[in-house]
Amino acid sequence: MMISVVVPLYNEEENIDDLYARLTASLSALPHDYELILVDDGSIDATPALLEKVRLTDPRVKVINFRRNFGQTAAFAAGFDHAVGEVIITMDGDLQNDPDDIPKLLEMIRDNDIVSGWRKQRKDPFISRKLPSKIANWIISRVTGVPLHDYGCSLKAYRKNVVKNLRLYGEMHRFIPAVAKWYGVRVAEVETRHYPRLKGVSKYGISRTIRVILDLITVKFLLSFSTKPLQFFGPVGLLSSLSGFFISLYLTADKIIGGRDIGGRPLLLLGVLLIIVGVQFIGMGLLGEMMVRVYHESQNKPIYVIRRLNGIEAE
Ligand code: UDP
Ligand code: MG
Repeated sequence: MMISVVVPLYNEEENIDDLYARLTASLSALPHDYELILVDDGSIDATPALLEKVRLTDPRVKVINFRRNFGQTAAFAAGFDHAVGEVIITMDGDLQNDPDDIPKLLEMIRDNDIVSGWRKQRKDPFISRKLPSKIANWIISRVTGVPLHDYGCSLKAYRKNVVKNLRLYGEMHRFIPAVAKWYGVRVAEVETRHYPRLKGVSKYGISRTIRVILDLITVKFLLSFSTKPLQFFGPVGLLSSLSGFFISLYLTADKIIGGRDIGGRPLLLLGVLLIIVGVQFIGMGLLGEMMVRVYHESQNKPIYVIRRLNGIEAE
């Protein structure tokens, strides 16, 4: 079995030599071939030069240099695109993850398609990192229906065919297990070790939580409704329009039968608003339906995923 290890690096000059040494020690003890894909995410320190030095000493090291900083998700995506191993391992380049946990992941990947690390004893600041992350993990688990304790853990193992078909955007690398579940893959979790960052600085603050929540909305929407947007917008739109219609009907009756003035009543505004908003929602759903058709039919994208064909010739 061939293993590809993908590590994103953004201004990690102080960590590269240790990282390479630790990874090499853990990986060479395994009975597998491996490659190390180090992705320099547009670093502006000595990272690119140090990576090149490492690469020249070891043919198993491959380096991808981004033109500018595209972010961790993009770095993972580039690594996935160029990895040749049957199993792809991702981890952070700041040695907060432990390369010695890799065998544990490989053990579990035998019966699973994704194995996700769980930093049970996480060594990060509580208020700014651990607490928001706890809440985010709880929300993500509830919303996506894929319960994991630690979506944010970079140390994960994937089977090649899982990641080769994924398209990642935004902060989406953390949602791969949830997205992949849609494809029907088996996801497992193992406890992994975690260490405080000893060298260099963290690239993220609390603002990431907000971006993660926004990405969660995208993921949830795409997972549940990407092939049937009108099913999502339609009910809301209908409910809104109908309530607006009945409110207006009541006001009309009040005017004609009761002879009361309705021009200055707040209810009139509400009725009109509900009708307009409802029509907008239905319109949005219909536009969505058009886009779904354009998306799938122009690129011949199926709306299903097949595990295997039995007795049918694949073209
Ligand atoms: N990273 C990256 N691009 C970025 C930000 C971070 O490649 O734009 C890398 C970074 O070098 C590290 C990993 O992603 O290897 C995790 O980043 P960091 O340690 O800053 O995140 P934290 O552990 O604080 O969540
Ligand atoms: Mg870190």
